[in-house]
Amino acid sequence: MMTATSDQTGLCALCGHTKPLIKSHIFPESMYRSVYSPEMHKFIVISTNTSRSIDLKQKGIREYLLCYDCDSTHIGKYDNYAAQWLYQNIGCTPERRPMSLQCTALNYKMFRFFQLSLLWRFHIARGHHFKNVDLGEHAARIKQMILDEDPGQQYEYPCILVLQPDLFEDLSGGFICPYGFSHKGVPHYRVIAAGLLWIWVLSPDASGHDLASASVSPDGVMHILLGNQTSSNMFKKELIELENASKLQRNADKLGKWGFS
Ligand SMILES: [Zn+2]
Repeated sequence: MMTATSDQTGLCALCGHTKPLIKSHIFPESMYRSVYSPEMHKFIVISTNTSRSIDLKQKGIREYLLCYDCDSTHIGKYDNYAAQWLYQNIGCTPERRPMSLQCTALNYKMFRFFQLSLLWRFHIARGHHFKNVDLGEHAARIKQMILDEDPGQQYEYPCILVLQPDLFEDLSGGFICPYGFSHKGVPHYRVIAAGLLWIWVLSPDASGHDLASASVSPDGVMHILLGNQTSSNMFKKELIELENASKLQRNADKLGKWGFS
């Protein structure tokens, strides 16, 4: 997250103390690397809600949420770990399996915290991009896990990653903000970021979930599931909707990338 100082004082969402707050990225800054428009070096936010005009942001989407200590102690290091894993390929080269890419040598604690903190950040963010996220009764537990540096069990709020091989380049070009859906009566949230689909299962015990075993395990193994033709068609439909929506918005001529829906 961002470590710039500010004059804004308020209640830190994590430690609960009134302190100077810093303007934190909701999605880690590293995830914007392929999203900035190269011509303008601005991140472009578009919406399928065409009544909103296109937003041009220089530093991604940020809010005053956390004090410096919480940001650097609890969030920044997880973001750094995830950035290294995503972009510097630390740990291992994924091994191709019939239905997945198997990653090994992941740091379970760091990766779990990254995934949990990202979901929690969506929850505490106030901007309209995150209005769909409400963790309800689970928010307090997840916050406590972050504060206590307790990564919990594998099936406690697991996060499942999906790679759509035929659309990876397209999906790397932007974000789709979180939205919730229900699967077998269990709430889920999903985003597209860094070219991957991230799905959180909002359950303290998702051991019966059909995909949860793909999430990072305490021995550092994770399966990135490979999308199929059905999911490919779903992603294509979303990208077409975003593109069509962008054409209806002001500043459409400035668009180089796609953004939140
Ligand atoms: Zn704090």
